[in-house]
Amino acid sequence: MARASRFDSTDALLAFDRAHVWHPYSSVVDPPPVFPVADATGSRIRLQDGRELIDAMASWWSAIHGYRNPTLDRALHAQIDTMAHVMFGGLTHRPAAELAARLIAITPDPLDVVFFADSGSVSVEVAIKMAIQYWASCGHPEKQRLMTVRGGYHGDTFGAMAVCDPQTGMHSLFSQVLPQHLFADRPAIAFDANWRDEAFADIEDTLRRHSAEIAAVVIEPIVQGAGGMWFYHPQYLRKLRALCDEVGVLLIFDEIATGFGRSGQLFACEHAQVVPDIMCLGKALTGGYLTLAATLASTEVATGISRGNPGVFMHGPTFMANPLACAVALASIDLLLDLPWRDTVGRIEASLTRQLAPCAEFAAVRSVRTLGAIGVVELHAAVDMHRIPYEFVDRGVWVRPFGRLVYVMPPYIISETELATVADAITDVLSDPPLIG
Ligand code: PMP
Repeated sequence: MARASRFDSTDALLAFDRAHVWHPYSSVVDPPPVFPVADATGSRIRLQDGRELIDAMASWWSAIHGYRNPTLDRALHAQIDTMAHVMFGGLTHRPAAELAARLIAITPDPLDVVFFADSGSVSVEVAIKMAIQYWASCGHPEKQRLMTVRGGYHGDTFGAMAVCDPQTGMHSLFSQVLPQHLFADRPAIAFDANWRDEAFADIEDTLRRHSAEIAAVVIEPIVQGAGGMWFYHPQYLRKLRALCDEVGVLLIFDEIATGFGRSGQLFACEHAQVVPDIMCLGKALTGGYLTLAATLASTEVATGISRGNPGVFMHGPTFMANPLACAVALASIDLLLDLPWRDTVGRIEASLTRQLAPCAEFAAVRSVRTLGAIGVVELHAAVDMHRIPYEFVDRGVWVRPFGRLVYVMPPYIISETELATVADAITDVLSDPPLIG
């Protein structure tokens, strides 16, 4: 039984929170609404005031099995009775080795060496450092720049910010201190539209002109997430892989949001049957329980780095390969692979496609799209973030839009009835133009 606290009072908790606690991308002067959570189980989040919400966000792509999953809870209990943490410098342990073995087995083939990082952003930093160190080791220290596409999002740390979309990436304030990388147009052709080679011209031209100074192309395969929730054509990645090989540039796939089945394939790169040299994983890696990410490298990249000068890869965070996080990640992956996850994600895709379709008729809506367990309603104008959260909470669902995007990526355990409630709430809220803009 938890001891009594002054924050048992929702008003006291909110008053303190507003004045003293930062939330993601928030103001302490004009804070947007936040809702105190008492607990969360399965696909439901229960607020401190007793209201229950159907979770349509999976805590930002991560809680794929829902909350308090008994298998994941058991894995964590067992691990905490063994050891919560131990440093990874000079020591190793079974949870890390088992998780690395599992990741190598389920990711495409040349990805054979795993670096454990603490968050998605850090795994992107690690990938960038790997690419630069690889070329330095191969006698090309001049290859220090990165290339990416507009509309991308890779995290909030400095290295990651520098490859986010310069406008939608929300980082323009820091442009003077960020390294200046190269940006090509956003991949223009939608996932299921007809491919046209012109759509590759811009990136091809820039990559050919600058390949001597470029270490790697960094890109989210198929699904651009926080930079615009855009699903693009697999042929783009096939052509990109061929071009990178031709001009001598590494390819980094950021699968932090898309990994573990979200797009309908275990990893989104499988839509294109293309393998990167370096791959970043995070978010759903631990089923949303703990922060952990991984950067996987091909043997060629890993041995290339290790044979050069200084002969070691220059990164090593304190909480690297935290055993609790590794144990729950292993349990989450095994649980996923034991489930008919392809059917489940396919069912969610079919339901979202059918149930969000009516939104396309609304004046406020620009387009509606779905892929795997991701549903997106793109609007003409940004939603009012001081008002719209109340509208969804009042309808018993947890949907958190940003900018012009109302989107959902529910836990895979969400039921058909719950999905229908989520879609009804979105349809209902978006049919009311005053809530937008
Ligand atoms: N890459 C992608 C594609 C992401 O969606 C995110 C998080 N939204 C990140 C990187 C950064 O991950 P984290 O928030 O764990 O640092």
